[in-house]
Amino acid sequence: MAGAIWVVAEPRGDAVRRVSLEALGRAAALGGETVAVLLGADAAATAPAVAPHATRVLAVEHPTLADASSTAQARVLAELARTRAPRAILAGATAWGRDLLARLAARLGAGYVPDAVELSAGADGQLEAVRPVLGGRAYARLAFRGDGPWLVALRPNAYPAPAPGAAGTVERLAAPEDLAALPPRVVERKAAAGGPVDLAEADAIVAAGRGVRGPEGFAIAEQLAAALGGAVGASRAAVDAGWRDHAAQVGKSGRTVAPRLYVALGISGAVHHRMGMDTARTVVVINQDANAPFFKHADYGLVGDLFQLAPALAEEIRKLREK
Ligand SMILES: Cc1cc2nc3c(=O)[nH]c(=O)nc-3n(C[C@H](O)[C@H](O)[C@H](O)COP(=O)(O)OP(=O)(O)OC[C@H]3O[C@@H](n4cnc5c(N)ncnc54)[C@H](O)[C@@H]3O)c2cc1C
Repeated sequence: MAGAIWVVAEPRGDAVRRVSLEALGRAAALGGETVAVLLGADAAATAPAVAPHATRVLAVEHPTLADASSTAQARVLAELARTRAPRAILAGATAWGRDLLARLAARLGAGYVPDAVELSAGADGQLEAVRPVLGGRAYARLAFRGDGPWLVALRPNAYPAPAPGAAGTVERLAAPEDLAALPPRVVERKAAAGGPVDLAEADAIVAAGRGVRGPEGFAIAEQLAAALGGAVGASRAAVDAGWRDHAAQVGKSGRTVAPRLYVALGISGAVHHRMGMDTARTVVVINQDANAPFFKHADYGLVGDLFQLAPALAEEIRKLREK
């Protein structure tokens, strides 16, 4: 199959987000050249984080690109893609990745699959992506046609992060001078409130709902999350009540997550909530109502009072981890 697969890596401090490495691993598994694209003022400084997972690193440098201005980033990527003709361009299905690829798709007139949970090569060599539809009640398999580039935002935790290999070559490019004139401009950055683990990339999430009865009830979710090394999520009812920041909300009008383990404490399991976590690998539900809809979607269900069960579970996990 001709043409490289590019992965636009999302910076995080001196490194990149784990989903960018997961996408690089998947691109390598599909065969051909794997190119990590870095955008920023000093983009090449991040090259050591991606070079062991790519055959080549393209570091495009301009001060405006550092401001995460997706308008400028999409323009630079579109120009680069027109001249170098990659087969596909991937990014993580994060807020940044989805915004960037949507703009890029419009500029290139290219096909775009947001929120893919699977990416494979079809029989004819074209890429095929699987994405949840109808609120996660079904999955659609979509095959790209034509010459590409094909654009795919890959959901975090869909594939494992690859082991490092031989470092790829690094190519540094300067972006066009007039890039600075493009809107929008980032005027301020604020760190999102939340625990030490990022919700989107967490291996384990303990989410709490109205059943925890108030902001203090989230301490129980935090204890269990700490024992599991995971992050804390929330239902919309808990967020609307002001018990947790909206950044923690999982569901249709919140975040989409795909952890290996999802523990729901006092959440009834409305479809709008499940839409945000339907690809979690193992789901544990704790609810005092044996008829709560969430139990139908759980791998393990505990019927009982979360205020007793969750701390007991956290204690057992801590003991197991200390052994
Ligand atoms: C357009 C739209 C978008 C939406 N987007 C979202 C979204 O992004 N995310 C989201 O979560 N919701 C969303 N909703 C709302 C969703 O439909 C539900 O109303 C919401 O998820 C309910 O939250 P909950 O399960 O915490 O509360 P409830 O439905 O009130 O459930 C609380 C649960 O806690 C249990 N419980 C109570 N006490 C205990 C106890 N001591 N021990 C154990 N269990 C206990 C109860 O049995 C109950 O099942 C959306 C709705 C709409 C219309």
